[in-house]
Amino acid sequence: MLSGISDIEVLERYPRTAVDHDNKYFYQGLLERKLLVNRCNACGRWHQPPRPICPSCWSRDITATEVSGEGVIHLLIFLHQGPPAAGVDYATPHPVAVVELAEQEGLRFSTTIVNADRETLRIGLPVTLTWIERDGNPFPAFAPAAA
Ligand SMILES: [Zn+2]
Repeated sequence: MLSGISDIEVLERYPRTAVDHDNKYFYQGLLERKLLVNRCNACGRWHQPPRPICPSCWSRDITATEVSGEGVIHLLIFLHQGPPAAGVDYATPHPVAVVELAEQEGLRFSTTIVNADRETLRIGLPVTLTWIERDGNPFPAFAPAAA
């Protein structure tokens, strides 16, 4: 992937994250407000989290590819307590969601839901990618899709 952001800058911006060769494009993408998911060039399947080999066909021909940002809530929990984390307020309480991305059945991304009343959130609700800030970096969150 072509990017104006160097490996060194990615490491500097995520000092508490284990950035490695397999996931560096993911974090590079976040800094450019792009949600990148690895896609296999051999079979076309998407997979997340990033791995060097396609779990479907074992090809190493993988490209970090921007997703549409559309999906549905697959799993949803509300945390009333947890480890301290930047931008997380457990008093609210804090929603943690697994979003199934529109690109492929079973392609899921763990995130949080913003700009929503807790009572309106449910499994199967269409959501769309939006960006919040955590620890000074862009963070991919999801919000209910416009009706
Ligand atoms: Zn493949």
